[in-house]
Amino acid sequence: MAKGSVIIVSGPSGVGKGTIVKAVVEKRSDMFLSVSCTTRAPREGEIPGKSYHYISEEEFKKKIEENYFLEWECYVGNYYGTPLSPVLSAMEEGKSTILEIEVGGAFQAKRRYPDAVLVFVVPPSFRELKQRLETRDAGNEVAIAAIEKRMARALEEYEKIKDYDYIIVNDNLEEAIENLETIINAGSLLVKNNKEEIEKIKNN
Ligand code: ADP
Ligand code: 5GP
Repeated sequence: MAKGSVIIVSGPSGVGKGTIVKAVVEKRSDMFLSVSCTTRAPREGEIPGKSYHYISEEEFKKKIEENYFLEWECYVGNYYGTPLSPVLSAMEEGKSTILEIEVGGAFQAKRRYPDAVLVFVVPPSFRELKQRLETRDAGNEVAIAAIEKRMARALEEYEKIKDYDYIIVNDNLEEAIENLETIINAGSLLVKNNKEEIEKIKNN
């Protein structure tokens, strides 16, 4: 990906976005993975400050007023938002940013960064998606109770794929990871992302 570019990864909850994105970011020091704020409760195994910044609804609303967020949305009864300033810092350092966010927030971010690349991750089937949610949320009553709502939201979001640039089917995890890397690498080869390099070659 070109320095300072933005890549947005969306897709239904439980499809494996987090798993794919984490694997890619761990391999690359030139990519910054944004940590969102949320008002939902942490899931088992999630790490505050790493998985999310967990804040109250009151704090979230205050941050909206302060223009703290690059984008924010309400998703199945909770607020989620991307803090703006870490993204600006990453860009200043010449890093590319990955945002793992739902569709409404993705379009807000695209309006702010029109060159952002939009990637949609889909499951091999909706049956498999439900299975992954049930496996991930087993033992978490609140999360299990929200699965139907998450599935309904997944169907709504599915209709928005046509406005995305790329689709990744997360069936075989390794292939899905490779496909995201391919998209990132293709971005770094776009002519519009290589203007300096093109001039440098001519002048040497
Ligand atoms: P998301 O970030 O999209 O909500 P997660 O990354 O938390 O999804 O993944 C949801 C669940 O699905 C996790 O238990 C994860 O281990 C599992 N998972 C991810 N990718 C695959 C895959 N290709 N095949 C089977 N299970 C997967
Ligand atoms: P979860 O509760 O499963 O972690 O996330 C629910 C949904 O919110 C997922 O689709 C996830 O990508 C999305 N999400 C996470 N962080 C943000 C954010 O900062 N902004 C927006 N708009 N969506 C987010």
